[in-house]
Amino acid sequence: MNYRHGFHAGNFADVLKHVVLMRVLTHLNAKDKPWRVIDSHAGAGRYDLGSEEALKTHEWRDGVARLEQAPLAPQVEDLLKPWREALVAARSRHGSETYPGSPWLCRHAMRANDRLIAAELHENTYRKLAQALGRDERCKALEIDGWTALRANVPPKERRGLVLIDPPFEEKDEFATLAAEFIAAHRKWPTGIYALWYPIKDERAVAALLDSILDAGIGRLLRLEIDVDRPDAAGGLSATGMLLVNPPWLLAQEAEILLPALCERLAQGPRPRYRCEAIRPDG
Ligand code: SAM
Repeated sequence: MNYRHGFHAGNFADVLKHVVLMRVLTHLNAKDKPWRVIDSHAGAGRYDLGSEEALKTHEWRDGVARLEQAPLAPQVEDLLKPWREALVAARSRHGSETYPGSPWLCRHAMRANDRLIAAELHENTYRKLAQALGRDERCKALEIDGWTALRANVPPKERRGLVLIDPPFEEKDEFATLAAEFIAAHRKWPTGIYALWYPIKDERAVAALLDSILDAGIGRLLRLEIDVDRPDAAGGLSATGMLLVNPPWLLAQEAEILLPALCERLAQGPRPRYRCEAIRPDG
């Protein structure tokens, strides 16, 4: 297990994931009822963009830094606001080079009765995560396998909330594992919101993930993807996606506004692309 998210923190894929995460949490906060987030592959909670890891790849320069060059259109900025405010809060609290990861964002968005379960298997990363979440009784950091944490914690007692699944995709069979574990969790908690993050290196892997989910009879999907057209020679990731299951009903409309703007701002080549596709059981 070698993956360290510090090399990639704040890159274009993180920006998409975290902007969408903050939209989902904003919708959950629109009702008084408490929610719970289960973050199965939580990472360190927050990252230092001045660290050796971040400075080695500089991926954040083509990610979060691009969004700070100039404001986007007002309707895009309205939708980015919860994420931008969280960014400002993280920096004012932990320093100007801080980039908040998914558990930090969840903690920032949560109210008195909301809860977070964040699993992280890597020992050193877990230590950072526990530190990032502090002694907040609403948040539980677990040093365990994220799939085990997922199986053990759905359905949550609130029966309302989000499962974020963001594995490192180090293993060859990680798409298959993601499909199987998600389907098992969905069987136990069919009404939860799920957000599955994936890299797009091979379209067939994404198609197989979708097929397995649809074959399992699971509908109400929203497929969000961006390809920043990173030149092949530069290596690394060019495209990423998130599959939302049971998304908040306004999210598809919001994504239609956000994705083209993000795609244009984050483009690394002349032909960036995005996809925003609602998939329903009846096609
Ligand atoms: N969700 C985080 C965020 O958005 O800020 C980033 C998570 S990063 C992509 C994936 C994390 O999963 C890494 O920190 C890695 O150490 C951890 N990890 C790898 N295998 C794991 C497993 N089986 N269970 C839990 N965590 C795991």
